[in-house]
Amino acid sequence: MNDDQLLRYSRHILLDELGVEGQQRLMASHALVIGAGGLGSPVALYLGTAGVGTITIVDHDTVDLTNLQRQIAHDLSRIGQPKAASAAQSIAAINPEVHVIALQQRADAERLDRLVAAADVVLDCSDNFTTRHAVNAACVAHAKPLVSGAAVTFDAQISVYDVRSAGAPCYACIFPPDAAFEEVRCATMGVFAPLVGIIGAMQAAEALKLLAGIGSSLAGRLQMLDARTMEWSEIRLARQPSCPVCAGRPT
Ligand SMILES: [Zn+2]
Repeated sequence: MNDDQLLRYSRHILLDELGVEGQQRLMASHALVIGAGGLGSPVALYLGTAGVGTITIVDHDTVDLTNLQRQIAHDLSRIGQPKAASAAQSIAAINPEVHVIALQQRADAERLDRLVAAADVVLDCSDNFTTRHAVNAACVAHAKPLVSGAAVTFDAQISVYDVRSAGAPCYACIFPPDAAFEEVRCATMGVFAPLVGIIGAMQAAEALKLLAGIGSSLAGRLQMLDARTMEWSEIRLARQPSCPVCAGRPT
């Protein structure tokens, strides 16, 4: 690490749990971020400020005025531009050392298979079950940890799905792909602006912990927040032997 890096990351290096070695692990890591919206914005910014070496951001959409209430990686000047490139620009303005790969593409199964294989951690910041299941399937196939967040109205949840962890479930163990879940979207239901910041910041924290090897992750625990009362609840999750995605994996 050079002098500028020692200064830039000094408040991380001061942490006993992280230190120079932990920071170097972050700088050598590759994070894959699916979605550059409400959750993906704080995720991208915190991974960037924290110095994750390579960040790949995938989002097919462009910036719209309705996004700016909560999607803090974008601004007025970027309306109409691809969200992935806009988030990359915001990271570069803070920390040009980070290598950001901005992909204006849909996260389909074939593309995800390739992208997940190259990543050390995957952050699902998407807004629909189809993408969530495709991301999960690729993470199970390549045994990569998946940090999953969701937020709509005043309700949010976060967990880590990590099949490397004994007995820990994948996303499909908890939300079976064939089950009919009601798709609730921010575009129709609305979302409280800071809620995506709270959950996105937690996703970034879990990803940084996984990359640096700090503490224990949310694997096997689903945390849910009701922002109306700011009350958290947690349920413990176990791998489902009948899961069509992760069954047969050694525990
Ligand atoms: Zn499963």
